[in-house]
Formats: sequence, structure tokens, C-alpha cells
Amino acid sequence: MNLSDGAAEPNLSMPAVHDLACDPVLLWEPKLCKVECKPIKVFDDEIESIRKRLLTSMVYYDGVGLAAPQIGLFVQAAIMRPNGTEKFIVNPKILERDGSSRDVEGCLSLPGCSSRGNRGPNLGRLFRHQKIKVEYYDVAGERHEEELKDFDARVFQHEEEHLRGLFFVDHLSNIYKDRVFARFRMFKQFYAKNVSDPVKA
Ligand SMILES: [Zn+2]
Repeated sequence: MNLSDGAAEPNLSMPAVHDLACDPVLLWEPKLCKVECKPIKVFDDEIESIRKRLLTSMVYYDGVGLAAPQIGLFVQAAIMRPNGTEKFIVNPKILERDGSSRDVEGCLSLPGCSSRGNRGPNLGRLFRHQKIKVEYYDVAGERHEEELKDFDARVFQHEEEHLRGLFFVDHLSNIYKDRVFARFRMFKQFYAKNVSDPVKA
């Protein structure tokens, strides 16, 4: 997840593959949707490696959250740092949901656009539960139960959905979804013309 404000100019911070010292974030495409990620059952060195890879890519792309399938790993793991503090979540579940809040969202897999669309800040806002009780496992396999609210809750819900093949656009009505994808196509065209080796999914 990112904090894209839906600015008109495409975001050119997407690096070329050969410049990357991290896993490239995969761009949205149909095959990334509706993929159920596998739960993690064994907490070995591989999990720490996944944590590091997610953290490195999230920091590189300046996101506030990144899920394993966004770097091509179809397991239930994600990293988030909504308020600067990093949280690695394995096999996350939402146990209780309460309230609702509405706000704009963006996603590192849909660069150059956000749910804001192109008609100002009051359109394309997504409802999320304002307060949630969650469980997840950490890198050592220890179970945590926490209550999250506001932006922390929003980022958790966004990342948890990635593990079920869902994107924030799935919450938008067709008219706003079309606007997001129009911007996404514009981003990809602009990027392909201006960068010789674009990141490819
Ligand atoms: Zn996302």
C-alpha cells in the first residue's frame, strides 16, 4: 500500500530491474487476482528471508505496506509500517470488525494512480472497518493478538486482502475502477516510452 495522492503525473520512481537491489514489486495483472496464498506452517530461516525481502522492497518503493504475492511469493506474509514502526505479519486473520471509515488508498502494484480518480478528493474513497481485532504470527512463529484502529487498521485490511488475491480497486464501483485503470495504463505507457528496461510483472 502507498499514500499516492493520485497526482496527474506518473510516478517515475519505479526503478529499472537492473538497478534494483531488491525484489521488484509486481504490477497489477489479472493473474495476480484471486490467488489464495498458502499459510506458512514452518517458521525457519526462509521466513526471515521473506521478511527481509519484503522490508527491503517496501522501503525501496517507499510504501507503508507490502504483501508477499506482490513480489511473487504466494505465501501468507506481509509487512507494514503505517506509522514508521515495522510489523511483519504471517497468516493474518481479522477476528472482529467494528465501525467504518472512508479514505483514499493507493497500492504499489498500481503505481501512478489511487482510488481518488481524477475528479478531486471526495471521490473513490474506500470504506474499511475503523477498528479491528487481529491475530498474526511473527517471524519466530509466535502468535499475537492486537486491536488496530484507523490507519493501522486500514493498512492491515489492505495487506490481508492481497493474500486472498484482492486489490483495493475491488471495493470501487465500476466508474471509479475504470478511472484507476485508465491512470494505470497511462503510467505504463509513459513508463515504457521513457525507461528502456521497465519493471515487468
Ligand atoms: Zn497494495
